[in-house]
Amino acid sequence: MTIARVIVDVPSRDTDRAFDYTIPERLQGWVEIGSRVAVPFGPRKLQGIVIGLAEDADVELAKLKPIEEVLDALPPLSPELVELGEWMSRRWLCPLTVSLQAMLPAALKGRSEKYVFPAAGAQWSDEETARSGGLLLALRKGKPLKLAMLLQQYPEQGAALKRWLRQGRLEERQRVEDKSSGKTVYTVFPADAETLLKAVEEIPARASKQREVVRYLAENNDPIAVARLAAEASTTSATIRSLEERGLLEIRSVTEERDPYADRDFTASNPMVLTPKQATALAPIVDALNERSSEAFLLHGVTGSGKTEVYLQAIQRCLELGREAIVLVPEIALTAQLVERFKSRFGALVAVLHSRLSNGERYDEWRKIREGRAQVAVGARSAIFAPFSSIGLIVIDEEHETSYKQEESPRYHAREVAIERARLHGAAVVLGSATPALETYEAAAHTRGGSQSGLGKIGYIGLPERVANRPLPGVQIVDMREELKLGNRAMFSRSLAAAIKDRLEKQEQIVLLLNRRGYATFVMCRSCGYTAACPHCEISLTYHRGSSNLRCHYCGYSEAEPKTCPSCESPHIRFFGTGTQKVEEALAEAFPGIRVIRMDVDTTTEKGSHERWLTEFRERRADVLLGTQMVAKGLDFPYVTLVGVLAADSALRLPDFRAPERTFQLLTQVAGRAGRHELPGEVIIQTYDPEHESITSVQGHDYQGFVERALLLRKQLGYPPYGRLIGVTFSHESAAMLLSIGGQFASGLRERAMELGIRKEFDSTGASALEVLGPVSSPIARLKDRYRFQCMVKYRGDVDASLLVSRVLGEIGEAAKRGGVQISVDVDPQMML
Ligand code: ADP
Ligand code: ZN
Ligand code: ZN
Repeated sequence: MTIARVIVDVPSRDTDRAFDYTIPERLQGWVEIGSRVAVPFGPRKLQGIVIGLAEDADVELAKLKPIEEVLDALPPLSPELVELGEWMSRRWLCPLTVSLQAMLPAALKGRSEKYVFPAAGAQWSDEETARSGGLLLALRKGKPLKLAMLLQQYPEQGAALKRWLRQGRLEERQRVEDKSSGKTVYTVFPADAETLLKAVEEIPARASKQREVVRYLAENNDPIAVARLAAEASTTSATIRSLEERGLLEIRSVTEERDPYADRDFTASNPMVLTPKQATALAPIVDALNERSSEAFLLHGVTGSGKTEVYLQAIQRCLELGREAIVLVPEIALTAQLVERFKSRFGALVAVLHSRLSNGERYDEWRKIREGRAQVAVGARSAIFAPFSSIGLIVIDEEHETSYKQEESPRYHAREVAIERARLHGAAVVLGSATPALETYEAAAHTRGGSQSGLGKIGYIGLPERVANRPLPGVQIVDMREELKLGNRAMFSRSLAAAIKDRLEKQEQIVLLLNRRGYATFVMCRSCGYTAACPHCEISLTYHRGSSNLRCHYCGYSEAEPKTCPSCESPHIRFFGTGTQKVEEALAEAFPGIRVIRMDVDTTTEKGSHERWLTEFRERRADVLLGTQMVAKGLDFPYVTLVGVLAADSALRLPDFRAPERTFQLLTQVAGRAGRHELPGEVIIQTYDPEHESITSVQGHDYQGFVERALLLRKQLGYPPYGRLIGVTFSHESAAMLLSIGGQFASGLRERAMELGIRKEFDSTGASALEVLGPVSSPIARLKDRYRFQCMVKYRGDVDASLLVSRVLGEIGEAAKRGGVQISVDVDPQMML
């Protein structure tokens, strides 16, 4: 008797193991590794994923309950993805169900039912129909039927049903209700051309319309929408229906697949002739593809060096080898512009996965991959789980982007998942960036040894110049303190103002970046220094001009704009900092008639708005594209010749050891938007900290110098990539409770390390060490009425810190649970807040 080992979808420590179930007769052959099933669990019925099949159970067979239902005909996960999930759970310390669920499209997570219906144009022989015991007749009525119901009503037909589903003659689909739900279209399925031609003779001459339709269908023997056919043959649907009675065609309702890119034409693009540098870059990747070796490469190319063309040609080779490719790009760079480059090269083979699609649209794209109709997946972070079966290449563009790390459980990093998945498939990995993450760079360059990045060995490929010898833009740094001394209190320095004026005259375009992280528009009293903060979170409230209120960006709390200081009643309460709205107003004032597109969280919430703004800008219906990080990524506009950065240093002081790296990356990134085509570009960076290395290195386009110095510092401090971190955050309504639990955790961990003889000093010998920092109040000390404390575990060398941490958490887990303390663990955290 075969037993299915099932992970039930309850994300807790107690249920984080496989439970055994028997497989009832009617489900034999349907339950596979990766199947989604419904199982009884205590008094409840739960969803679960099958992670193993075994001949023996740990408990007596009689005590096992049977699986109730299989929820999909084609298992949504493959054995390979299940294995990947197990690896993720070990790597990032989370329950297995959390890892597995992260791989499923949202549409498959809730309570959902699968429907089965005949595929367009599918045929069955009379014999098959006869042998199907009524199943085919039921299905061919055209109404989709529930899979679970079919399996129950036609228990003998399981094998046939499965065969037809796999052959594609039947399709299964989940009903996903959402706004862009697929349209139902009445579709004509014509008899074969020969039958039709013969029939024409038999149709009475007076029924000329019928004749015309039949002739049309004989010539165009494909399924066609009723309405469309009526139009083509200039007839009515009544005429068409009368032909159905004659048995010359069949009309069925068909759900059209949602295709978010359906109304766009993609002009076909051909591979460009590579520059010699690009060709040299491509060669080792192609070698790896040919040899099916799971090698990883860092493609380090300056902005505009032609990395994307290298990706495209590598993918082409991958497809020629009959294998599949995944391309990850940062969410906000997933614009129509980028999608177009892939769609126009590979057409319908491309599936696109990003969060601006509705659940239904995403599910349809996902199915294209699962059913083998797409060979290239382009998407944001979670597209790394695209359910392909034979991956040859994984590309991660802008690999340094923070969005590749998921900030909720499972807190995985797509870069590492990519490398692991590639290992399972024998696939090549290409990590592309103009400003690689220090971890990646170190893994590729091996500059000074002792790296702990966990990325393994990475090959280095450099593209140090822009295509066609286009120069990198000149970068000017403006000291805003000097401006103030000279009496300029405006938001724009004299040089930036002059440059904007100049571009307006020349009708060229401008990108303005407001680096707002950590620098929100907050309210402060000039008399007493009071700042408006959220009463539930330790966060300054942000002023919103449109609604004249103050809002907390963490919990959504809002209050009316104060007229006087709530603390000292002074009327001198003012807004500080610079929001994009304020910059927009200042632009309008300083440059009357200027056309500004503002892109930030407020103007891009509506679906499709992001793309609309960019299209408008590309069509030069605006002079300035103003925004936050969003305007820095991946955009390629030929008329942009000026990039201005306001408040370049605002994120430098964040309590995060990666702050300088992030600032350097962002500035380099946005500077790369200028002068990408024939017109030369210029960049002006405004700052209060003009000597800071993160800023001066941008001026010299000096990645190498910046990174060498930054790595040296990291090494001295034992920070990644020369040491690793595990962050543990505790939250509770009472701070005292947290100190107690946090303290227990820290001392428990220290004790264990001591027992194992692990030292706690990070000295210059590079010897293994583990240090526990904290518990201390988190940088965000209170969130949604809960206090937060954190411990940071810093370690290096031959120490299995993950194991130690989970052991100690196991020991204090019971007390924490009883006290209502929430604990979250972040292995290799990317955000220190
Ligand atoms: P990156 O991805 O490194 O920023 P892109 O691939 O976007 O660079 O290339 C920058 C510009 O150079 C694009 O406009 C692209 O069309 C052009 N380009 C890239 N490769 C070639 C080539 N081999 N020949 C001509 N133009 C190229
Ligand atoms: Zn005051
Ligand atoms: Zn709040």
